[in-house]
Amino acid sequence: MNFEDYIKKDSQYHIHTYGRLPVLFTKGKGCTLWDISGKSYLDFLSGIGVTSVGHCHPAVIDAIKSQAEQLIHVSNLFYVAPQIELAEKLVNLSFGDKCFFANSGAEANEGAVKLVRKYSKTFLSGDKYEIITAYRSFHGRTMKMLAATGQPEKQKPFEPIPIGFKHIPLNDLSALREAITGRTCAVMLEPIQGEGGVYPCNFKYLQDVRCLCDEKGLLLILDEVQTGVGRTGKMFAYEHFDMEPDIISLAKGLGGGLPIGAFIAKDRIAKAFEPGDHGSTFGGGPVICAAALAVIKTIEEEGLIENSAKMGSLIEDKLNELSRNSSIIKEIRGKGLMVGIELEREIAKEVVSKCLSEGLIINNIGKKIIRFLPPLCVAEDDIDKAMKIFKKALLN
Ligand SMILES: *Cc1c(COP(=O)(O)O)cnc(C)c1O
Repeated sequence: MNFEDYIKKDSQYHIHTYGRLPVLFTKGKGCTLWDISGKSYLDFLSGIGVTSVGHCHPAVIDAIKSQAEQLIHVSNLFYVAPQIELAEKLVNLSFGDKCFFANSGAEANEGAVKLVRKYSKTFLSGDKYEIITAYRSFHGRTMKMLAATGQPEKQKPFEPIPIGFKHIPLNDLSALREAITGRTCAVMLEPIQGEGGVYPCNFKYLQDVRCLCDEKGLLLILDEVQTGVGRTGKMFAYEHFDMEPDIISLAKGLGGGLPIGAFIAKDRIAKAFEPGDHGSTFGGGPVICAAALAVIKTIEEEGLIENSAKMGSLIEDKLNELSRNSSIIKEIRGKGLMVGIELEREIAKEVVSKCLSEGLIINNIGKKIIRFLPPLCVAEDDIDKAMKIFKKALLN
C-alpha cells in the first residue's frame, strides 16, 4: 500500500478520534524518524514524551527480544521476575516504598485514586473521598480521569461525569485552602502541567501544598506521567521542589515506547490495598518490565538526566535569544526537556505544520502554545538544527 491508500483506509476503518498530521513514519533511530517516502525528520516530540531514550535504542530492543524469546506473558497470580526487579529499581530511585504496574497513564492514575479511596476508608474517620485537582490539568481519558481532568470543555460531551473531584486554579494556595472540606482526602497535581499548556507549579506553591496537606491530613498525589523519568532534568519532577509527595504516577517515558503505567507510594498508604483490591491482566508483564529496566539502565549509563538538564537550558537560552529579537514569543515555560512556548498570536498550528514540512516534529497545544519534548538523548547539533527550522517557521 502507498501513503494515499493508508490515508483512505484510515478514514474508512479507524474511528475518527485523532486529527492526523499528514505523515506516515516507518522507521526511527535516536532523535530521527523516517517517513514512508524516505524523508527524515528530527523528532522534538518523542511520541508525546514517550521515546525518552530515543527511537529503537539497541538496549531496549535487546531487552524486548531476549525477554520475548524467554517468556512473553504470565499472570500476576504468579511471581514475575522483571516486574519485581523494576519495582525495586523505581523504589530505590524515588521517595516511595512500593510500586504497582498498569498499562497506561490514565490507568496508573485510576489505581492511585483507588488506593487513596481505600486508604481513606481504612485509616481515616468520616466519609472522605473527594480529590482536589487543578484547572488545565490532564489526568487521562477514562471516565474517572476525565472527571479528574480540570478542563470542563473536555467533560461536557460525556456528561454525567463521575463525582468526587473538585478543581482549583493552580498556584493559588488560598483557593486550595478554601476548597478543602470534611470530604476531601487528597490533592492531585502535575508538577508541570503538560497537556494543559506547560504550566509549572511554583516552587513555593508546591511546598506550601505539601504543608497544607500535612496540616489537613490529606494525601498528595503527583501525576508524573509526563514529567517523570528524566523529562525535566531530574529523574522525577518533584525533586525540583525539595519536597516529597505520598504517591506518584508514571507512564509515558518509562517503557521506551511500549505501554506501561505505574504508581509508587509510601508503605503506610500502599498497605491499604489487600489481595483482590486492585489488579491488571497485562500490567507489569515480563516484556514491558524488561524494556523499562533497559530504559532506566540506559538513562543511568548514558547520563541522560544530566543531558536533559543541560540540553534543556540550551534550548531555553536559544528561545530567550529568539524572544529578545522578535515580538512573537510571549512566554517560555517548563523545565529540562519539557518546553512550552506561548506565542502572542494564534499561529501555533501553522508553525507546527511548517516545521513538519521542513523536517522538524513539534506540537501545538491550542492556538497559541508550542511544545518541545525531545528525547533525553538529544544533542547540541540537533538543537541547532531544530532551532533554525523553528525560527524560520515562526518568523516567516
Ligand atoms: C498523557 C498523560 C496522561 C494519560 O496517559 P495515557 O497513557 O494516555 O493514559 C495522564 N496524565 C498526564 C500528566 C499525562 O501527560
